[in-house]
Amino acid sequence: MQLGHKTIPKEFLNNLPEGIKYVVKNNKDFLVVEQLFCQEGHSLMVNNVRMHGESSIRLKVKLGKSEGNIFVDAFWGSHDKLYSFMCKYTDEDLMEEEVCCPTCGCSLMVENEMPCEVCGSTKSIELILPGINNKILVCAKVGCPQHKLIAKEVSPKISEIVSDINYFGL
Ligand SMILES: [Zn+2]
Ligand SMILES: [Zn+2]
Repeated sequence: MQLGHKTIPKEFLNNLPEGIKYVVKNNKDFLVVEQLFCQEGHSLMVNNVRMHGESSIRLKVKLGKSEGNIFVDAFWGSHDKLYSFMCKYTDEDLMEEEVCCPTCGCSLMVENEMPCEVCGSTKSIELILPGINNKILVCAKVGCPQHKLIAKEVSPKISEIVSDINYFGL
């Protein structure tokens, strides 16, 4: 499997928010999430499940009648996931995940101020970055690629470009 490649704005690289690192892999630029927390401050990163050579993001997921941990690729814009359980659901497109912290079980779900631009979902998964009010919002709908970076160091314009980085068909 090969990661795709998108250009990362220079302005962003010059002032990277804490918890996100810049990685060069096969002479290409990537952003990798290094630190993420639930609202209670528990780390969501795990070293023992690695994807593309980096620590992955562990989340507890309830999907239909199934529940278990998923491991999400820390490469920004990658949608690779490993499920530690069998998902039983009938219509993937209609299903919204319920995502919790694997340590304390607190919900990571938040209501969107605006419905998702891609799928119209009203819910997101909120992942906390180090620093005050820095976070990543991931659309709660299964299969929707929408994700947003919100950080005080980053202007709305740059945030939009970075949020648009997606790698499909890995
Ligand atoms: Zn927690
Ligand atoms: Zn969406």
